[in-house]
Amino acid sequence: MKAITAKPGVKGSVQLSEIPQPFPKPNEVLLKIMKLGIDGTDRDVNGGFYGAPPDGQSFLVLGHETLGTVESIGREVNNFGEGELVVPTVRRPCPENCLNCRNGESDMCLTGHYFEHGIYKLHGFASEAAVSDANYLVKIPRELADVAVLLEPTSIVEKAISQIYEIQRRMQWNPKTALMLGAGPIGQLGTMLLRLRELEVFVVARRPKEDLKARLVESTGAHYINSMETPIDSLSENFDIIIEGTGYAPIAMESINQLATNGVLCYLGVYGPSQLAFKTDYLKEMVLRNKLTFGSVNANKRYFELGLIDLQKIKAKFGNLLSNLITSSLKPEEFQRAFLPDEAEIKTIIDFT
Ligand SMILES: [Zn+2]
Repeated sequence: MKAITAKPGVKGSVQLSEIPQPFPKPNEVLLKIMKLGIDGTDRDVNGGFYGAPPDGQSFLVLGHETLGTVESIGREVNNFGEGELVVPTVRRPCPENCLNCRNGESDMCLTGHYFEHGIYKLHGFASEAAVSDANYLVKIPRELADVAVLLEPTSIVEKAISQIYEIQRRMQWNPKTALMLGAGPIGQLGTMLLRLRELEVFVVARRPKEDLKARLVESTGAHYINSMETPIDSLSENFDIIIEGTGYAPIAMESINQLATNGVLCYLGVYGPSQLAFKTDYLKEMVLRNKLTFGSVNANKRYFELGLIDLQKIKAKFGNLLSNLITSSLKPEEFQRAFLPDEAEIKTIIDFT
């Protein structure tokens, strides 16, 4: 079968390969892959910065954002039927089964020895068929088939926002405004989730106002700010919530100044090394105004399930906005195009059907 593979640690190693179809173990489901989303992590694996193949193998099947149908089930699986639509979660528990992994929160794994489909020691879903442990599959209603490939990135922001509200139970808190840094998939989905909570949302990115990214933001009732014209340190507003999704360290650091008293800032980027000097202002801001910053990675099944409910709400409230996030759909043979930089792109998917 066709699979998009890479050699982790080797720059530019992504290729279309022919590999044997996997066979499901007793606890697993064989999935026929329909759609696959490509994101920055896939590009980082191809860049040689990230990832590891399964033990004893020289390559890794890429892909962790997907939608598939159940093709066959292992003999211990009884809650899935052939043809059902499913989305698998990405991370699997560590072999030590640490406190968090054994409580269904492998996204909070303590040992760091977890496995991740398409990233770390487990093949991903960028292939005509793939296997997953049945316990980590989320059933998808037919009416979400067109957008459910976005459930994995939705789960990332769903976790961030859930954690923000959980953390802020430290006090009486009634947030009114939020700032989203970046207008890619995380920025767009985050904006929609925050608009569902009736917050006034501002989104900052580098694209001009006429760009699709800006127009989509504004069609949710959020405000779009072009940072090339209006740098974020010139904004007069302060925000109760900031979600940082650009992965650009200077913006991530500077944005503490735009956080309101008692506000909370969540970092979702993977920040590369930078020459940025750590500013003492940052600490003063945190202390004197009770500000709080935290980081968040991955998402467990609970956040996929919350994401599914919210995708339905988004569809009801904003119509076909979600499908507009998919800016290109490629055949597996066109995979190279998904790994080229494209500033106008929001989400590129590979269609395996
Ligand atoms: Zn663990």
